Amino acid sequence: MKQLYIDGAWTHGTGLRTWAVTNPATGQHLDDVSVASTEDVDRAVRAARRAFDDGPWPRLDPLARGRMLRQLAERIRSRLEDFAMVDTLNVGKPIRDTRGFDVPCAADLFESYAGLSDKIAGKCYGTLPDNVTMQFREPMGAIAAIVPWNFPLTNAAIKLAPILACGNTVVLKPSEVSPLSALMLAELAHDIGFPPGVINVVHGTGAETGTALVRHPGIDKITFTGRHQTGIQMLEAAKIGMKGVLLELGGKTASVVFPDAPLEQVVNGVITGIFYNLGQVCVAGSRLLVHESQHDDLLDRIVAKAKALRQGDPTDPNNHLGCLATPQHCSTVQRYVEQAQHDGARCVLTGQLPTGAQNCFHPPTIFDRVTSAMTIAREEIFGPVLSVMTFRDEEEAVRIANDCDFGLMGNLWTSDGTRALRVARRLRAGRITINGGGALRPNVPVFGYKLSGIGAELGFDEAVHEYTSSKAVLYSLATEKSPWPE
Ligand code: NAD
Repeated sequence: MKQLYIDGAWTHGTGLRTWAVTNPATGQHLDDVSVASTEDVDRAVRAARRAFDDGPWPRLDPLARGRMLRQLAERIRSRLEDFAMVDTLNVGKPIRDTRGFDVPCAADLFESYAGLSDKIAGKCYGTLPDNVTMQFREPMGAIAAIVPWNFPLTNAAIKLAPILACGNTVVLKPSEVSPLSALMLAELAHDIGFPPGVINVVHGTGAETGTALVRHPGIDKITFTGRHQTGIQMLEAAKIGMKGVLLELGGKTASVVFPDAPLEQVVNGVITGIFYNLGQVCVAGSRLLVHESQHDDLLDRIVAKAKALRQGDPTDPNNHLGCLATPQHCSTVQRYVEQAQHDGARCVLTGQLPTGAQNCFHPPTIFDRVTSAMTIAREEIFGPVLSVMTFRDEEEAVRIANDCDFGLMGNLWTSDGTRALRVARRLRAGRITINGGGALRPNVPVFGYKLSGIGAELGFDEAVHEYTSSKAVLYSLATEKSPWPE
């Protein structure tokens, strides 16, 4: 049984309650984790508070902080196979992805932010000659980090690497669906010797453990990744004690294919964009906007390619697709498919499920003749469902792409660089890719327009802005006496 990690020690929750973790591909029980009660959350926050207010971490030589983060990166790499298998078993993502992306990316994040630790600089302002005015960037405090299940280890690293590099302490709440790799990460940090209270990991549902954490007055900032509906609850919680808040929320990415696009690249990009991790990706390219002159040709090629994807046992490295993370989520995706049929979209692909597949397997699905008014074009499905729409000209493409409540990412496909940049400027989204450029990089910030979020994740300047506090210090060099009578 897995425990909570609080104040540098492993502990059962006070209520001795447990949560069963299940393999969604087989339905088999994987492990039990302790559930953190409100009291346990209070202990974790107090530990993070103490470690911040009185402990060595925020005051450590930034080079030493960086060295510890680098060690964490190295240890993750040395346990690549273990981490990859744990996340694959826990959420059903193919082992080729957890090995090829999730775990290396988590290690890269810690390595990259290790280098940021000693490069956080303040400013000096030009004021009067007998004044020196400085701006310091200081560690911000005890941070609550709440993450979803789609990239369990990577999501935790995206939060922890910049938070720790900036000298903060943290209480991490992974998703109740995917708690296992965060605990392994805590084990590594413990072995390396991170001071007690710097990293704390609590488990439980959002409604109980998550709420207790974000409403706790000892927290200075909430950093959250998840659905926009939950993001709104974070804003409510942030009001208590006027906490800072960083929200990375959902998306409904439009991929716009102009007539001069490199079609073979487009096919690969669109397939990866929507079916990678079975669409459980915030930036999944769930809306394909194709010029009407190319619609038939492109759709045929995409359907043919999607049919060639191998779906099945996530632990088999030959499979491109595994299963969705929970039966509940699978039912949600299925409801969207039924809604699309009811709304009059034309299903042009519903892939074959592997024999004996349990209820978490959902096949790649493509709907044609989708309109912006349909639910599948408006709501985030977070599953392997592609909506295809057509446009006549650039103006209409921009209008359809922007006709959406989310604004996380947009993908453009064209050989015309001027058009690419012109349209990129007009799309209301925080990240635009052109001809498939777009892997997650630690130094490139992630922004969200509209319902997709507030603030920025990653990026070095942005991380420093999000996870440090600014202080102005005004120093008089004057030797003259005050003009006021003594
Ligand atoms: P979710 O909002 O249901 O849950 C996310 C986390 O919040 C979980 O740990 C959950 O336990 C916790 N939580 C839920 N209710 C809470 C509450 N009231 N108080 C405190 N914590 C609470 O999201 P999900 O279904 O786990 O994840 C999928 C969503 O995440 C999608 O919308 C996806 O787009 C988004 N996402 C966004 C990004 C990004 O960078 N923008 C990245 C990955 C995932």
